[in-house]
Amino acid sequence: MEILVIGVGYVGLVTGTCFAEMGHHVTCLDIDEHKINNLKNNVIPFYEPGLEELVRRNQEAQRLSFTIDYALGLKKAEVCFIAVGTPPNDDGSANLGFIESVASSIGDHLSHYTVIVNKSTVPIGSARHIQKIIRKKLKKRQVDIPFDIASNPEFLKEGSAISDSMKPDRIIIGSDSEKAVALLKELYSSFTLNHDRILIMDLPSAEMTKYASNAMLATRISFMNELAGLCEKMGANINDVRHGMSADTRIGYHFLYAGAGYGGSCFPKDIRALAAMAKEQDQDPLILKAVHETNERQKNVLSQKVSDHFEKKGGVSGKTIAIWGLSFKPNTDDIREAPSLKLIDSLLKKGANLRLFDPLAIPKAKQVLEKEKNVQFCLSEYHAAERADAIVLVTEWKQFRFVNLKTVLSKMNGNAFFDGRNQYKAREMAVKGFRYYGIGVPQLPVDLLQELKTMGNKKARRYEDPRFDYSSPGFD
Ligand code: NAD
Repeated sequence: MEILVIGVGYVGLVTGTCFAEMGHHVTCLDIDEHKINNLKNNVIPFYEPGLEELVRRNQEAQRLSFTIDYALGLKKAEVCFIAVGTPPNDDGSANLGFIESVASSIGDHLSHYTVIVNKSTVPIGSARHIQKIIRKKLKKRQVDIPFDIASNPEFLKEGSAISDSMKPDRIIIGSDSEKAVALLKELYSSFTLNHDRILIMDLPSAEMTKYASNAMLATRISFMNELAGLCEKMGANINDVRHGMSADTRIGYHFLYAGAGYGGSCFPKDIRALAAMAKEQDQDPLILKAVHETNERQKNVLSQKVSDHFEKKGGVSGKTIAIWGLSFKPNTDDIREAPSLKLIDSLLKKGANLRLFDPLAIPKAKQVLEKEKNVQFCLSEYHAAERADAIVLVTEWKQFRFVNLKTVLSKMNGNAFFDGRNQYKAREMAVKGFRYYGIGVPQLPVDLLQELKTMGNKKARRYEDPRFDYSSPGFD
């Protein structure tokens, strides 16, 4: 099939490349000429595991090409996907400026029957809006070119976007045109050979499904974060509570983690956009407002914990703080709405010196933070820990799970460790000599802390003393 994908962001580029990988002929179009020229040379504008190789392979096989030219892109297209950004307006509602501009350009250049499929996350009713813009343009051109419209929201996750696209949980197709549905079913059939996962519905339901899914996921996170705060105050451990809850199959084990708050380009904007839609319909979005506000509050929790820790130690001002992880989640370099940015801003305002490390996101973070004087970008988590009074883990990169904590501690000035993603266990960290703070994890009693510290010291001596009795109980 001949496919045009408009927008070479995370969604458009991954979608187009995966269609090409399935043997289709795909043209990807963007207004950003610099991005398009880079892509022609297999330079990818963002990090996504495995994407570069797929782009290269499919370009070499001449199944994938890049252009800025709408007329050229639409010339042969049977299906045209729209995958441009829908950023928030100040009031939280979705800004449809990019979508409207794409619809106008399609209307200016459409030359034969094409199925126009919207993949961007858009308010309910947007597909009809796109349809009207294209019709208006065709009327202006005094041409009668048939086209159909469909909604096909995208559910890929940054960091696992290729496997999510190749093996989707579900493919939602919203359309009232049988012809469009038949064409899209054929296009997607190769992605669902194992079992049919294509769900057909009307346009508004398809558009709503995307918001509903993201809102549910964000609700789970905010719910766990609210409970985490309560757990800390009441002596319960959110990690144990989570295990206890998850065992109920109606709740399940996935996506139920307390942490530093959700970020990224989707959850924050989609929750606000859905709330804005509700308000427009005179419905007070009580749950959505609470989800958003809880998340905003949660993004301040780590900074508050740092302040509390240093309160009797002269305050945060002048302290050196290492931050592990800048991207909004692991396996991506995307820092849009990342909790790390709010933490950095808050700690800088409190006068801290920051040593930042992230395996991938440093180039993007530099673009945002380059003017900050008290920020140093580091080469590794160990480098960031040098002379630090405290470490704050913000993103749960796998490489942070098994760091040599003894080496880390030996490089630090202080011993405070703020674990924004509950990657470590409080007792083990205490044995290793850290003053540990998790999210929703109560502080260990002072006498137990002392006991664990002594145990750690004995362990340390054991390594130094070859005559030590390894079988002695209580040390492992
Ligand atoms: P992005 O910002 O990474 O990329 C959008 C691209 O569209 C940019 O390259 C931009 O130059 C291009 N563009 C803007 N106007 C254009 C025009 N008139 N013609 C051609 N190109 C134009 O966006 P993204 O992250 O890929 O998201 C796209 C949409 O998909 C959004 O609505 C988003 O909510 C949704 N979505 C994103 C994800 C994700 O993980 N990023 C997942 C699911 C859905």
